[in-house]
Amino acid sequence: MNPDQTIPTTCTMDCPDTCALDVTVREGRVVGLHGRRDHPDTAGFICEKVSRFHERLYHPSRILHPLRRTGPKGEGRFEAISWDAALTEIADRFREVRDRFGGEAILPFKYGGSNGFLGDGPVDDLFFARLGASRLARTFCAAPTGEAAKGLYGKMPTTAFEDFVHARCIIIWGANPRVSNIHLLPYLKEARRRGAFVAVVDPLRTFPAADVDLHLPILPGTDLPLALALAHEAESRGWLDRAFLDARTTGADTLLATARSWDLDRAAETCGVGAEAIRQLAQVYQKATPALIRCGWGLERNQNGARAVAAILALPALFGKFGVKGGGYALSNSGAVRLDASRLFEMPPWTTRMLNMSRLGALLQEPLAPPIAALYVYNCNPVATAPDQNAVIQGLQREDLFTVVHEQVMTDTARYADIVLPAVTFLEQREIKRGYGSYVVGGVRPAVAPEGEARPNEAVFSALAGRLGFTDEIFTWDTETLVRRMAGALTGLEGQADTYLEGGIQTAAFSGGTPIQFDTVMPRTPDERGHLAPAFLGKDPYRFEPVEAGDFPLALLSPASSKMTSSTFGEFNYPQLRLAMHPADAAARGIAQDDRVKVWNRLGEVRCPADLTDRVRPGVVVLPKGAWMKSSGNGRTATALAPAHLEPASGGACYNDARVEVAGLSSPQDAL
Ligand code: SF4
Repeated sequence: MNPDQTIPTTCTMDCPDTCALDVTVREGRVVGLHGRRDHPDTAGFICEKVSRFHERLYHPSRILHPLRRTGPKGEGRFEAISWDAALTEIADRFREVRDRFGGEAILPFKYGGSNGFLGDGPVDDLFFARLGASRLARTFCAAPTGEAAKGLYGKMPTTAFEDFVHARCIIIWGANPRVSNIHLLPYLKEARRRGAFVAVVDPLRTFPAADVDLHLPILPGTDLPLALALAHEAESRGWLDRAFLDARTTGADTLLATARSWDLDRAAETCGVGAEAIRQLAQVYQKATPALIRCGWGLERNQNGARAVAAILALPALFGKFGVKGGGYALSNSGAVRLDASRLFEMPPWTTRMLNMSRLGALLQEPLAPPIAALYVYNCNPVATAPDQNAVIQGLQREDLFTVVHEQVMTDTARYADIVLPAVTFLEQREIKRGYGSYVVGGVRPAVAPEGEARPNEAVFSALAGRLGFTDEIFTWDTETLVRRMAGALTGLEGQADTYLEGGIQTAAFSGGTPIQFDTVMPRTPDERGHLAPAFLGKDPYRFEPVEAGDFPLALLSPASSKMTSSTFGEFNYPQLRLAMHPADAAARGIAQDDRVKVWNRLGEVRCPADLTDRVRPGVVVLPKGAWMKSSGNGRTATALAPAHLEPASGGACYNDARVEVAGLSSPQDAL
């Protein structure tokens, strides 16, 4: 037997940590993945799901060859065909659609959290621009936070993980680092050991009680009133940093004018927590320096999402918490390093209609002009992840819709495709992966040859471009050339192509060390000020709009779990869906532990067993994000209950505006 090989690479999963990995290869097969010890943030450990990534690599549901549908849509019956036949058919169908309806009848559909610059960006965008395809607003995640961070501070770099240890007060707001940012935990632990006060704002108890000093289990979607009440406390108690606000910000008075109507009692009643707890949070935050807010993505998933994030990001300015190491706020750092695609090629004008991905079900069924006649899905599993799952499925069943899905495993979405293309995993490809939590850019290098005939995105789009007669030079570059050219087109650090080709990681450097907001890094707004009433929020930027619950009194949350990254790993790592609910809500409905229940609203129904837990506050029930249809009793998951309305300022998805009712099912056959 040959000795094991160790291949360095970078994790590409949609996760703030962007770990440096060692992949163990034995006799040509991956047998283990480990966190590198020589990388400061990774520090020798990784999450359980990626440590098992080889189970996905070799899973029986892996797509190994191009496939053509042979049965009804959704049934999952396919025949293997050659790449040549698949690409020719796609190119022919795209040509037909374009000739008949125009290019806008073709819709590219992708997310991209688990991809790098090669697979998500220049090559595919250029391809669809040349086709004249519709553009896609990517709104499943980070649209409200992104707009708020841009609107207030121009995406100023935020506090680095390692600087959390300096904070004397840390508010973790709408984030759960225990499942999706685990490399922050050692820094949180060290901060607490040094005496930091740690508060968590989350409807769910995500930390053991011993690890936090204060937990505010607010009702879903009430983050805005809570933030406004804190702002009101700052003003009414004379804590505002007026000198800072006058010199470094605009718009504080607009925010404060709304905040004045949110005293502690009103906020407490709306948020479903005690006024005393809000007062304590305000007092601790005001007294502590440095004080830090770790703003997550959970609080954006509702119709008040962008306003809530904006109000929260305004708090460090109001309370005077910027300008010190370990102070300010932490959010996405994806803006620190960018790819300047204009250094690679000249992008033609791409001004076609913009369609919002969160409305996929409606878009596929409503009378658009032109209609969506061809759909190309990659880096995405919308049947599991798009709001209004039943509408998405109905849309994908349209016989006149030509659907291509480029995927690693046979997902719920791939089963509806006319053509399925096999995609590589990150263990079989080259990539350049930018972190959005840690300040790193990592090289992804193949540990093993692709299974079957799997190919990366850029190779497929280049091959299709050739068939459609697109002659841009970038479509002729091989993967190594793309890595080299893209490394030279990065801004924010000196991209080192050889480092990326070898699977190494670079860290973005800031003058003066890690960023200190309003000291070593400034808002990237034209006037370098913070804009606390940003234009994108409109005339009444901080108005609160409660969700109409009607006959459905329980708020449904669908948070990230430790089992999946969005829907990735759902093929093997999520055996059975369970509804988490508070024992008091269960008792009121005669539901006992493990009883089979139905969860429903006007959009759909999910059947599964119940888990009674006080980890969930009364009035809230929980189903995990990204679960596959096979994991529930009736083939429907949390997104079947999620409305498709949009957060008004950013177009973001509003999963957490789902309101539901729950009832026990008397017969086991009813549930399973
Ligand atoms: S998913 Fe996150 S924690 Fe897990 S290995 Fe990847 S970067 Fe690290």
